[in-house]
Amino acid sequence: MPAVATYWAEHAWLPHAGGPVVGHEVLIGVGPDGRITEVTPDSGPCPPDAVKLTGLTLPGQANAHSHAFHRALRGHVQIGSGTFWTWRDTMYRFAGALDPDSYLGLATAVYAEMALAGITAVGEFHYLHHAPGGGRYGDANAMGEALIEAAARAGIRITLLDTCYLSSGFGAEPTEPQLRFSDGDADAWAARAGELKERGHARIGAAIHSVRAVPADQLATVAHWAAMRRAPLHVHLSEQTAENDACLTAHGVTPTRLLADHGVLGPRTSAVHATHLTDEDIRLLTDSSTNICMCPTTERDLADGIGPARRLASGGCPITLGSDSHAVIDPFEEARALELNERLHSRTRGHWTAGALLRAGTEDGHASLGWPEAGRIEAGALADLAVVALDSVRTAGPAPALGAETAVFAASAADVRHVVVGGRQIVRDGVHQLVADVPAALRDSIAALQS
Ligand SMILES: [Zn+2]
Repeated sequence: MPAVATYWAEHAWLPHAGGPVVGHEVLIGVGPDGRITEVTPDSGPCPPDAVKLTGLTLPGQANAHSHAFHRALRGHVQIGSGTFWTWRDTMYRFAGALDPDSYLGLATAVYAEMALAGITAVGEFHYLHHAPGGGRYGDANAMGEALIEAAARAGIRITLLDTCYLSSGFGAEPTEPQLRFSDGDADAWAARAGELKERGHARIGAAIHSVRAVPADQLATVAHWAAMRRAPLHVHLSEQTAENDACLTAHGVTPTRLLADHGVLGPRTSAVHATHLTDEDIRLLTDSSTNICMCPTTERDLADGIGPARRLASGGCPITLGSDSHAVIDPFEEARALELNERLHSRTRGHWTAGALLRAGTEDGHASLGWPEAGRIEAGALADLAVVALDSVRTAGPAPALGAETAVFAASAADVRHVVVGGRQIVRDGVHQLVADVPAALRDSIAALQS
């Protein structure tokens, strides 16, 4: 993919024995395999043959939870009132309009927006498998293939989390809009998902949509599929109290306990949201070192509540971040929201350092998507980089030594200047190098769904 290249970072967020530090005048060499070959701080001025990266170079950001088509809802769902469930009705209307071609166009634009925000890998929680009404496309994975191709066109990595979605509730058949999501049973899901092939920029994982959408006696089939492949396994967990209530009624246990009893939890698993948990739920998640994917901008948009991220992290769960419904796509906003939510809730400050929040958005996020070799600027790691301007109206002023604090607590996606994936520069001076006009691509692909 990349030519052999050398980058020179004015400032860079580098691993260090006592915790990451901001290094200066850092030469970053990239080999033909797209991995970093050397990291040399204090190298002096930028050599003539190096690509200059002005600002703070961070590891590329991992967007650990995405439903690409939700981007089409932006604006539309901010009218009137309602709940998560009324929002979902609108979401289903947009889902019904997509086919493999239109999804390729929309997802390319959405992933290009992600690239411009500094995101170099996305975890796509994909359940829009079949044609409206549930008919199969000629290639039963045509929709998933469209997402993999979209990531390639946008220049980013993808983990396609192929999602098992079989029921509309406990013991309830899929509703009409949900027929597109269902393979019939978990064995049929496993057979179809097993046809997906990994490639350079794409890895394959599994997802259980939720305990509402996969019957308890079929949870282990999905968990086993992922275990056999040592693949990531993601699951929406307790985003809404209604899910907890229905699970208690159907099974007499919480969703977390149900997942634990069927072998779903563990260090390859990510529980998404984890908003409404009991003390025992928290213990089950921490004891199993399950990743917790928080999606703060979506959780506040959908009035979900504030999950116990701090308690889960203190107990040993790695925390990751996702933009989920894409109410906004801004990894810095997701990161600071974790701390700021905690401040509002506790009325005290300082629950997460900027460094800990950056780790959630990079190293731990990539690992949860099955890319453990990404998320650090060090020799041997994937050369995935995101450069944040420290001279914009939002970021100018603080000394470079405060670059991490500035990026996390003041920068926005608009401050991302350059992005490198596998050594290849896909964003230069804020301009996507592969998708000519990202706003136009978003506008046109979303308009096509409404015509
Ligand atoms: Zn989601």
